[in-house]
Amino acid sequence: MPTEFAALARNWRARLAGKHYVFRWTEGRLDNGYCAECRHCCGPQPEGDAPYPMPLLPSQLRPDLADDFYLLSPSVACLDQRGCKALTPTGCRLARSQRPPSCNLFPLILHEGALYFYQACPAVLFATLDDLLRIGESAARDLPRLYTPDELRAISAPLATETLVHKCISLDVRVAGLDV
Ligand code: SF4
Ligand code: SF4
Repeated sequence: MPTEFAALARNWRARLAGKHYVFRWTEGRLDNGYCAECRHCCGPQPEGDAPYPMPLLPSQLRPDLADDFYLLSPSVACLDQRGCKALTPTGCRLARSQRPPSCNLFPLILHEGALYFYQACPAVLFATLDDLLRIGESAARDLPRLYTPDELRAISAPLATETLVHKCISLDVRVAGLDV
């Protein structure tokens, strides 16, 4: 699987262009019909990358978490060179309520109170900038109602500036109450 944006974009264009899947914001999560065919972001991560943390909320903790996730700690799932345990050939097998909150947002990313989109996701590639902005504005409105500020800080993505600059689209939209 290619990792550079242009190569990914060509791949999605060849595989998915012309298909019209759902891509919409619904009560704190993105419904994304491209995921079942794509599965890119849930799969094995590049060799050498550190495990990507996906914190769970206290209400999501259960004794059998290790059946569904590789764990960095009892409350932090992760994605690494093995991919995610919950990934199947048709996408994520977990109910939305069981997934890490960051998974329910992705390809929308919350980082230090601001919202970004992961640009190489096919749903992002085939959306208009206006679609993306509308989703971001809806998320900025809904997230403070659905999560406490501490929860939002906990589920924020720990992305390096270089990743944000090279792999993400900044919406210039901030979530209220998370000023840094
Ligand atoms: S890259 Fe986008 S479409 Fe593909 S699995 Fe991730 S969120 Fe879904
Ligand atoms: S929990 Fe589901 S959505 Fe999240 S990384 Fe794993 S397979 Fe993907």
